[in-house]
Amino acid sequence: MAKLSIRDLEVQDREVLMRVDFNVPLQDGEITDDTRIEAALPSIQRLRDNGAKVVLCSHLGRPKGEPEPQYSLRPAATRLAELLGTEVGFAPDCIGEETAAVRLTLNAGEILLLENTRFHRGEKENDSGFARQLAGGAVLFVNDAFGSAHRAHASTEGVTRHVEKSAMGFLIERELEFLCEKLDSPERPFLVILGGAKVSDKIEVISALLEKADSFLIGGAMANTFRKAQGHALGASLLEGDKLDLALELLAKAEAKGVKFLLPADTRVTQEFKEGAETKVTAPYAEGGGVEDGWEGIDIGDRAIEEFVAEIARARTIVWNGPMGVFEMTSFEKGTRAISQAVAEADALTIVGGGDSVTAVKKYGLGDRMSFISTGGGASLELLEGKELPGVAALTEH
Ligand code: AMP
Repeated sequence: MAKLSIRDLEVQDREVLMRVDFNVPLQDGEITDDTRIEAALPSIQRLRDNGAKVVLCSHLGRPKGEPEPQYSLRPAATRLAELLGTEVGFAPDCIGEETAAVRLTLNAGEILLLENTRFHRGEKENDSGFARQLAGGAVLFVNDAFGSAHRAHASTEGVTRHVEKSAMGFLIERELEFLCEKLDSPERPFLVILGGAKVSDKIEVISALLEKADSFLIGGAMANTFRKAQGHALGASLLEGDKLDLALELLAKAEAKGVKFLLPADTRVTQEFKEGAETKVTAPYAEGGGVEDGWEGIDIGDRAIEEFVAEIARARTIVWNGPMGVFEMTSFEKGTRAISQAVAEADALTIVGGGDSVTAVKKYGLGDRMSFISTGGGASLELLEGKELPGVAALTEH
């Protein structure tokens, strides 16, 4: 990897602008989960310990290019100060004369958090004038916001054109280590587990990983589309009717490449999409089973769980993205819970990426048992697709 890392920068007494991901969940102005702020601490500490004047920027939520008080980053400044046990300044705008003046007063080791970059349209439009102002007097830029690195916005991409050097922070470095380097020459068997709502979101991941993986396990509503394409009855299940040809193409490709592509042998179904609903498992598809009219598939079935767990136990490298069913409801979580447990117990390098599977793994208290949990949904999918992220591509080469 030829890009500069935060370790390569001489930061003593220099102003360093760092893009962090403080896009934290808020309720009534209170941060309900500060995982993302905690995740940024190593990079922030590194800059502080080495005498940088630290200016942090981030987006929060989806304001429409102008200030919206409910998306203020002020609570994040307060929380960061608590976590670091030091003062953290807050600038009520990310650009403008007043902000520039405050930035000038920073001493070595001091930290200033700028207000939400998405309070200006220039952020998402990647406007060069906005990016120049955001860079301000900083000659060094660090990007540590993995979750936003797949977007070419002013604070992730444009800003790099207005500083001398741009480097990645520890978070991005670690994401690239696991999602790129380690998967370049994976220990085999290399197993990919995919689930979630749509095949269409994951076509490119499947195509890219068909070149590398030994086997796939497909769950979630995605699996319904494959089963429908094979001609099985799916009742009222969620599926993508316009993706049936594509599903067949992917199955044919897997077969041609000798990649094992396991679909759920059976499906857990319900007549009522609600917590506490009655469920049952269909007869296996191979024995003429399927989903009856008026029923919908909401999880993988018991035989599918058994087969998937056995496959997981054989793997030495596992990438998992997307839940096996509607795990948000306890009545429909059995498959996702079993797969989480099996991945946690596997004697393998285990990488969990994507918002929902990460939520599931944490819900079952298994986060610590995985080798790596990606902090980015879209960004981790794009890396698995083999794409270069704009926020990484723009960084300075060694
Ligand atoms: P994604 O964002 O594509 O990873 O999809 C995650 C969502 O897919 C979760 O909210 C699940 O509830 C949902 N999901 C998974 N399996 C099913 C299913 N069989 N039917 C309906 N929704 C599902």
